[in-house]
Parts: sequence; structure tokens; C-alpha cells
Amino acid sequence: MSSIRILSDRVANQIAAGEVIERPVAVVKELVENSIDAGASRIEVEFRNGGKSYIRIEDNGKGMSPDEALLSLERHATSKICEASDLNEVSSFGFRGEALPSIASVSRFTMRTRAEGWEHGTEIKINGGKLIEKKDCGMPVGTVIEVAQLFNSVPARRKFLKTDPTETAHITYNTRLFAVAHPKVAFRVLEGGRTVFQSPACENLCDRVAEIWGRSLADDLIPVDVSDPQTGYRLSGLTAKPGVGRSTRRELVTLVNRRPVDSRTLGFAVLDAYHGRIQKGRYPPAFLFLEIQPQEVDVNVHPAKREVRFRNEGAIRRFVLAAISDTLAAATRVERPNSVPRTLEKLENVAVIRPAAPAANPPSAQFPNSAPPAPVQPVAPAATKPADSVRAVKVEVRPEAPAKTAPAWRLITLLKKQYGLFDTPHGIVMLHLRHADQRVRFERILQSYRESSPPSQGLLIPHPVQLEPLASEALRNHLDWINAQGFRIEEFGRHFYRIEAVPAWLEPEQAEAFVRDMVDLLRQRGGSRQRGELAWEAVAKLAVEGSYRRSDLMSEAAIEQLAEALLRCETPHTSPAGKPTYSEISWSEWERRFGKD
Ligand code: ADP
Ligand code: MG
Repeated sequence: MSSIRILSDRVANQIAAGEVIERPVAVVKELVENSIDAGASRIEVEFRNGGKSYIRIEDNGKGMSPDEALLSLERHATSKICEASDLNEVSSFGFRGEALPSIASVSRFTMRTRAEGWEHGTEIKINGGKLIEKKDCGMPVGTVIEVAQLFNSVPARRKFLKTDPTETAHITYNTRLFAVAHPKVAFRVLEGGRTVFQSPACENLCDRVAEIWGRSLADDLIPVDVSDPQTGYRLSGLTAKPGVGRSTRRELVTLVNRRPVDSRTLGFAVLDAYHGRIQKGRYPPAFLFLEIQPQEVDVNVHPAKREVRFRNEGAIRRFVLAAISDTLAAATRVERPNSVPRTLEKLENVAVIRPAAPAANPPSAQFPNSAPPAPVQPVAPAATKPADSVRAVKVEVRPEAPAKTAPAWRLITLLKKQYGLFDTPHGIVMLHLRHADQRVRFERILQSYRESSPPSQGLLIPHPVQLEPLASEALRNHLDWINAQGFRIEEFGRHFYRIEAVPAWLEPEQAEAFVRDMVDLLRQRGGSRQRGELAWEAVAKLAVEGSYRRSDLMSEAAIEQLAEALLRCETPHTSPAGKPTYSEISWSEWERRFGKD
């Protein structure tokens, strides 16, 4: 007796079902994709018990003739590809022709469908893969599919399902993504008769996001539309304004060719673009549509997963990073006040927190007039660093609006000695004085190093420092480099040094403490002897950290100037340590809170 047998279609379908459909949300996904492929402009999804006991998907798409309806339930029946080579070029969602038979093999399945030009529809009932009934029925053009008692006949699989609320959460989240992917399709999602969300056909993505996630999220986003003529890549959609971050990545939605996907490459590229622009550990909300040639993406890594791979991950990463960085840089420019030349002079001297009564420290001690640190030029700002590193990619940015002349923020008052409350064109802003000051000083220090030789100031009395042997060795190893950067430190005995000059940005009385910290930092970084900007970034961070903070009360004028200087920074939204520098409540948010009259 032969032990090798050919599986019946029914068993094969049940096995395939395990691959294609892991859980109820996969059923919803397959059926909604079919509805979209069928050109539906209205889709309704209803489910009960996390989809385990009941799922219904109804659409007004093109429907199926009686023959097509039967055929669609055959394994590998699909109207979407003919040959294996087509697999590379599929742009519709389904293409395996396995979803319907697989679902029907592990549930009580009912399909009602009617195509244009047919007087009646067709109703087909299948139970665990067995055809029970096929008959005519009256219905409008379109398709209704009901899936009941999912996996009842496959206890092994049912065991792996999560609780109802968990499965429900998956379904609601994923249907929202489909709704975002297709703003022009009207969606309604019901859980056991209760509407979870619904949205009419929307003109654009922004309206759809507002419908589903709320106006306040939509208000926090700016449009992206960047294409690269060379590769044909295009990234469009909405992305968080600089400074807007959320605690989870649930609202960081990426789609490839209108299909919601998970991709580490895309996720990292987006997070990279926001580096320094949002608080550390937070995620930018964004709805980003990547359009690329279908053969550039492998959507079929796993049929039930949303994970995709790109043929050229590196190129995609660079493109997305550059596209978003450039969009954010453009948005930051728009936010900046335009009245530069008039205030430039003033800013050179006062961009840092300064005591209200400048008795102890005349400004010239910090920024000698002979060599003022050059402020960042707001008119033609240097592109942000992430964008710089991917300059190879040429992108066309269409920023949302031409730069308007935005009047600077107007200070209302100082609060709690640490916040400035401002009235701005967009709303009310609380400025965190210390974080803002750190950001301004940080960029100023970095800027001075970009200009090769930073201004130096000699100490009236050289300051001696004794170091322990290992620290001494670290300092000696880096001495040439340090001395080329505005310091003058001489070794004058075993483990003894003399600080004779420090960079203009460092206050003389902090020279020793700073040098000690810097030596610690150099030791932590080990023998790698990192030079250039990277190392200076760390040094500059050190310089603006707590021990070098100025705690004096600020004058109102100084606070206003701090705000102006902050808005001129390359990345004004966070402190060098990644803390927010300011927080805004927009006028539209106030309107929402009080309600319109
Ligand atoms: P695939 O989508 O991979 O082709 P499916 O098993 O999901 O395979 O569907 C099989 C076929 O049934 C589709 O190719 C399509 O022709 C037809 N079909 C499925 N759902 C619908 C629908 N909602 N409206 C019209 N036709 C549909
Ligand atoms: Mg399909």
C-alpha cells in the first residue's frame, strides 16, 4: 500500500489557509483588498467577537457573474495574473488566487455577488470547504461575503487566536489603514452593530486623516511630495511637523504602492529624518505613500504579513531620508521670521541666556566683537545633516506654501522663572528657557568649529590642572587637536597642564571643569581619536549641559532674543539632549476646546 497520496483540494486549502490566514484580521485584509481591486467606492466591514464568530465585508464593486463566482472559489483561480512572470509586476493587491478558497475551507462561508448586466445575483454557501448551496438571489451590483465560525473546524489554529479585544484591535487598526490608503472610498466599520468608525469618500488624505484620527492630528502634519526623476521613486502624503512626536509608532504609517506595509527600512529612514527634530524616544506621526515600480518591491515575503523587502533597500532608505529631511528643513524655514538683516546685529551678541543685569560678565568677554560667531543664515540655511549625508540623491521638494513673512513671537510673560509664554501667529507657545538656550549655544559652538579656527580668548592668569595618569595620557594624546580648536593647553610637568586660552564660547571660570569633563569624554570614546564634527558634537553637548548652565533671571528682551535665535537654529525643536525646547497650543486647538460659536 502506497503511503504517498495526493491531498484533496479541501485539505490543501485548509493547509494553505494556515499560511494565508493566521487570524481574523487577515480575512478582513484579504476581503477588503478584493473589494478595492473590484473598484468599490463604498466598503462596509462588520465583525463580532474579534472576528472569530462573524465577519462581513460588503462592497459596491464590479461583482461577479455566476460562473465567475464559482470559479473564484477554486484554488488558484484569479482574474489578476496569468503567468508566473506576471508575479513581478502585480500592482493589484491579491494575486495568488488562494484567499477565497482558503477562507471558505476553514469557516461557514457565504458569498453573494452580482455583476453589472445580470438580472440577479448569485449566492454560494460553503461549509468547511464543502459546497452546500448555490442559488440566485436579488441584490444590487457588488459583493457581500460573510465568514462565520472561523477556524471552528481547525481547533489547532483556533487555539492560537488572542482574546476578542486583541483581535478587535487588530481589525480596527488595519481597517483604518485601508481607509487612509484609499481616501476616496467610503468606509464603515462596525463591531457587533456598533460603529467603530466611518468616513465618507474624502477629497484628500488630510480630510481622511482628520475623519479617522481627529483634526488635531491632521493639524500637526505637513504635506510631503518628493519625486526622484532618476529612479522614478515618489514619496507623498503627510508627515509630522518638526517637534511633533507621539509616544507610540502606531501613527507612523507607511504604504508602498498604496498598500500598508511594515518595513524596517522605511521606519528607520523616517526616524532618522526626525533625529534632533523631535524628542528622543518619540515617534513622528506620518502617513507616507511610497510609489515605486512593482518589480522593485517584494510584497510576498509572507502572505499574511505586512513586511516588505525592497530590491534596493539602500536607495530607498536614502531617498526617503532625503525627501523627509528636505521637507522638514523647508518647513522650518517657513516658520522662521523673515526680518533677518535688521536683527542680525543684535542677535550676534545676545543669543545666549544672559543675566538681566550684565554686571559680572560683559558680553564682550564671551563673544568678542572682533570675531562674532556667525549666526545661521536663515535665508539660505545649510541643509540638515541627515540630508547632507545623502546628497547624492537629487530630489525635488514642493513645500506646502511659499515662505510667508511670519512675525516673530511676542513675549507675554516669564513664568516660574523657567518658561517664556509667547503669543505667535500659530498659537500660544511655552518656551523652555534652558533647553532653548542649550540648543542655541550648541549650534553656535558647532558653527564656530565649522569655520575652521574658532575665536579664542586668553586667560588673564593661566589655570593649572593636575590630572591622574590615565586622564593625563588621554589629554596628551589629543592635545594637538584640542589646541587647534581654540584652546591653548600646555604640558608643564608630569601630569601637570596649564590652560592658557579657551574658545570664545567657553566662560573662563569654567575652563578647568570643562577640560576635565572633556578629558573624561575623550577617554570614554577610547583610542578611536575621533576628530571633526562628530567629536565636537559630543564636546558641544557637554558644554551646554547642566554644569555650564546660567541660572540667572533673564530680562524680557533677552528672552525674546533667545526665541529669535532659537527659530534660526537648524533644529530648533529639541535641546541637544533631545528634550523639547518649546510646546505650542495652536489657535485651532483653542477653538476646539472652547467650541465654535
Ligand atoms: P486574488 O485576489 O488573489 O485573485 P482571491 O481568492 O482573493 O484571489 O479572489 C479570487 C478572484 O475572485 C479574484 O481574482 C476576483 O476576480 C474575484 N473576486 C474576489 N472578491 C471579489 C469582489 N469583492 N468583487 C469582485 N470580484 C471579486
Ligand atoms: Mg484577493
